[in-house]
Amino acid sequence: MAETAGPVVIIGAGHAGDAAAALLRQYGFAGPITLLGDETFAPYHRPPLSKAWLKGEADAAALALRGPDFYARQDIALRLNMRVTELDRGGKRVRLADGTSLPYAVLILATGAHARALDIPGAGLAHVHSLRTRTDADALRAALAASRHLAIVGGGYIGLEIAASARALGVAVTVIEREARLLARVASLPLATAFQRLHEAQGVKFHLNAGIAAIETAAVILADGTAHPADNIVIGVGAVPATQLAADSGLDCANGVVVDMAARTSDPDIFAIGDCAARPVPRYDRRLRLESVPNTLEQAKQAAAAITGRAPPAPETPWFWSDQYSTRLQIAGLLLDVTGTVVRGNPGDAKFALFHRAADGTLQAVEAVNAAEEFMAGRLMIARRAKPSPTALADLATPMRAILA
Ligand code: FAD
Repeated sequence: MAETAGPVVIIGAGHAGDAAAALLRQYGFAGPITLLGDETFAPYHRPPLSKAWLKGEADAAALALRGPDFYARQDIALRLNMRVTELDRGGKRVRLADGTSLPYAVLILATGAHARALDIPGAGLAHVHSLRTRTDADALRAALAASRHLAIVGGGYIGLEIAASARALGVAVTVIEREARLLARVASLPLATAFQRLHEAQGVKFHLNAGIAAIETAAVILADGTAHPADNIVIGVGAVPATQLAADSGLDCANGVVVDMAARTSDPDIFAIGDCAARPVPRYDRRLRLESVPNTLEQAKQAAAAITGRAPPAPETPWFWSDQYSTRLQIAGLLLDVTGTVVRGNPGDAKFALFHRAADGTLQAVEAVNAAEEFMAGRLMIARRAKPSPTALADLATPMRAILA
């Protein structure tokens, strides 16, 4: 794409929108940039919301993505509390909730995702929470201060991180999961089992294979009719991409706004990045929606490079992290086309790694628990489509740097 001089409008002042605005300036874009967000707060880190922020261990300055004068210094017009209600692609304008509209030459959709809601009786009660925004986290934090028993519906990363934070605050926790195991969509069975044990050792109770039928004032009712006491409930059953503006304006959407490797949508003047985008992932030859900070940064780079006429950045290997208690999980790659797993260390121990391989021995993913070296070496090997020796991987006496070499 030729370099653009006209106004860039970014919808969504989250991680992706913030990164795109900053990178445009870094790459030399000198035209007007407007960053529109419907939240009250300037862009902030979302990952601490279920971790340090929930436990009261981080302050607002640490949560903010930038210092207070960053946007003014970069000549980025940050407009908060401002919802975009409509895209007029023909007229190249966005309409705002205050009735005004803004012209764009290039538009970036960075609208993120919403917490998925559950359509069950009682889901709207005041003690039922979800966790996506700082406002959600503040409400949950206030509730946990007076809570004795939290029920979490959903045993994914966010549910488990909230469980760890609630235990640190001395609140009893029950996790209710529809599937037969935790982290069913996002982690291997041995990893999920290790995390279940980690939480059980901290006193968390699990109900697996358990549907939820209703929520009452002091209990959750499971599909089998049993009642489980809870004075607060978190629904943590995944996120739904915020694609309404895109879909209403006729952009291609399929579980996210469909984009190419430049983050460009089916309209050449509109980009979509972050949790709202369904992007190609060349390493796995698929189109996927990735919900992670590293993905938002990679796609922000793709869009900013295309808008400023730079060469496209090299594709990155997807990665993710999660912190629970004093355990740091790092995952590189995706658990796709996996036919076998090599265990390094013992999944019952504080430190171990799981290397997942394709049928031909190619390393596809590594799940590293308190094992930074294994994570970093694994990430490089995944990018190189390496076929490391399973014997060496399983042998703790063989250093990762030797395997990498
Ligand atoms: P968002 O951060 O959702 O930002 C989108 C913004 O757009 C929001 O502010 C939204 O209100 C706004 N918006 C939407 N529609 C409009 C509109 N019409 N007009 C104006 N504004 C609009 N990732 C990791 O890699 N590691 C972790 O440990 C981790 N932990 C997480 C913990 C929690 C509790 C959550 C919620 C997420 C976590 N993630 C983690 C995921 C990561 O935070 C997301 O992938 C990332 O924030 C996505 O950024 P985004 O900018 O695409 O979307």
